[in-house]
Amino acid sequence: MDFDKNLLIANYQAVKQQLDTANHVANRTQPASLLAVSKTKPAAMIAALFELGQRDFGENYLQEALGKMGELGDLPIVWHYIGSIQRNKTKDIAKHFDWVHTLERDIIAKRLNEQRAGLPPLNVLIQVNIDDEDSKSGCQPQDVPALIDAILACDNLRLRGLMVIPSKDGSDAFVRTKALFDEMAARYQLPSWDSISMGMSGDMAAAVTHGSTMVRVGTAIFGSRNYD
Ligand SMILES: *Cc1c(COP(=O)(O)O)cnc(C)c1O
Repeated sequence: MDFDKNLLIANYQAVKQQLDTANHVANRTQPASLLAVSKTKPAAMIAALFELGQRDFGENYLQEALGKMGELGDLPIVWHYIGSIQRNKTKDIAKHFDWVHTLERDIIAKRLNEQRAGLPPLNVLIQVNIDDEDSKSGCQPQDVPALIDAILACDNLRLRGLMVIPSKDGSDAFVRTKALFDEMAARYQLPSWDSISMGMSGDMAAAVTHGSTMVRVGTAIFGSRNYD
């Protein structure tokens, strides 16, 4: 697949600039970081951004991601799995990714834990269905403590925090996510509990204002996607 490298670089720099500004305006001592969501985009685009210093990339589709990892094998990329997790896919996710943002069931935690044996702990985020939408994945907010307990029993998983995909209708989802994060921080006092994955191309500044530590940006960097 051919792409316009100059446009990619310009987009990336504009997103970095917006993120810097958002971090500055929000007075963040620990600035929110950028996860470049490269689903449906070729390995060559990832390599081009790597050259500019981008290290964290997010992928939704396992087979596609494994293909790109093969192409980019010698680059020290930090790979984040942000797609829904099918039971029969956990082994490859556990073996090939550094982070999983979409953990929502204890059975999946158990499988990832077993299949991660022998590797450094897998960083995991609990995906919360913060707007209680029928169509969205994620566990319910009230189920988070039980899932935390299940994950804490897994030596090969390192629980880092929460991930949300809010509904588009301008809810206060970011505020409720931060409140839930803070509540769990106070209750469990986990040193590794340091991450909130929220904010995408359209709302990253607002997400940073409300406490996101990692924004997941696809379209604003890579352009629109032909399939999703
Ligand atoms: C595709 C995707 C993104 C990126 O969305 P954009 O609107 O293209 O920035 C972020 N998070 C998840 C979970 C995604 O699937």
